[in-house]
Amino acid sequence: MRIKLDKTICDGFGPCATHAPEVFSLDDWGYAATRNGRPISADHRDGVRRAILDCPVHAISELPASTQSSRANSSNDSAAHRRTWSRTWDSTAEGWERFAAVNDEFFSAHSHPDKAKAVGLPGAVGMGNLRFQYQNAMLDCCVPPDLQVARYQCRLTELDILGDRLTAWAVPEPMDDATAAIVVRMGVRNQRDEECAPGRAILTPSGARPSEAADQGTRPPEPDAATARQLGIEHWLHRTSDPIHSWPIGANDVMRWRIAIAWAARDINAEWTHSPAVPRLFNPFAWNPHYRPAEFPWMPAVGETPGTRVLNGGIDVHFYTPMEIGDTVTCSARLLDCRIRSGSLGEMLILTDEQRWTNPAGALINKIIRSTIYY
Ligand code: SF4
Repeated sequence: MRIKLDKTICDGFGPCATHAPEVFSLDDWGYAATRNGRPISADHRDGVRRAILDCPVHAISELPASTQSSRANSSNDSAAHRRTWSRTWDSTAEGWERFAAVNDEFFSAHSHPDKAKAVGLPGAVGMGNLRFQYQNAMLDCCVPPDLQVARYQCRLTELDILGDRLTAWAVPEPMDDATAAIVVRMGVRNQRDEECAPGRAILTPSGARPSEAADQGTRPPEPDAATARQLGIEHWLHRTSDPIHSWPIGANDVMRWRIAIAWAARDINAEWTHSPAVPRLFNPFAWNPHYRPAEFPWMPAVGETPGTRVLNGGIDVHFYTPMEIGDTVTCSARLLDCRIRSGSLGEMLILTDEQRWTNPAGALINKIIRSTIYY
């Protein structure tokens, strides 16, 4: 028996590592890892079969007996080897600084190798937010005009190290006839061929107006109220933070944002860089002293000691009404969940929150579900 785990769809924290701990481990972000294609010994087969059956997203499959292990090993992300769309960036200090400047994202781990090492990282690491931007810039360049991105999900499974070369890739799957939606499997691979940002996008016909009502099936699981009580933040599970208002979105801000993202790209096209459209992951709250997403009231203070160090876990964004130049955007946020897990970085606290952004007419722009990891 040989198996294959598709890391681009694994949802994390599932039963596979419980059923077959000798075969599956959970990485620092809680996602499953295994060596694809290796033979499973008879002792572990029952556990692996339970894992296959219990995996809620069918990320684990049994390979046909005829599959050669070498082939299976090389297809850790088979979709990545069938790339339809791709764009490549170099991880340079200049590119990171430009993005930090437009997104007001200054953490010492992103710019000081010594400070990064002091918090247990191998060296200066790039912003997770920037990888989200790479994938979305690639989508902007490649998705045909008769389709729109209705949802984008990505989690961060490897670090982006200074000097890495990152290729955002995507493979659209066949259209679902019932919904006319297309799921796009995506990732960001580095020059070592490690997948560091598996994710997916959902495309719908451009004329379709995505609605929140249609997303109800994607509600997150029940929160871990016991952990929230233990941390004294339980009341935030039922409460929305005070709204925060952005300044009007300026054309200058949008242009700087686009140029910062395109700065270290090897093959992004000039049309993308100069488009006046507001990118779907544009942050209109950057440099707003009232918007501190690393300091929402349920979040512990960030520091350098164990338990206060922070990593970006990933995002899941539903897009509804596009942002436009001149819009002021209002954000309200709430805590969705908090969990404590163990990983190679030790005990981790994972906070999941939701931000809802609305435009001046009260229309929902997007709903952002975000994971923050304290280690
Ligand atoms: S059960 Fe499936 S989704 Fe959950 S961690 Fe394992 S592989 Fe991932």
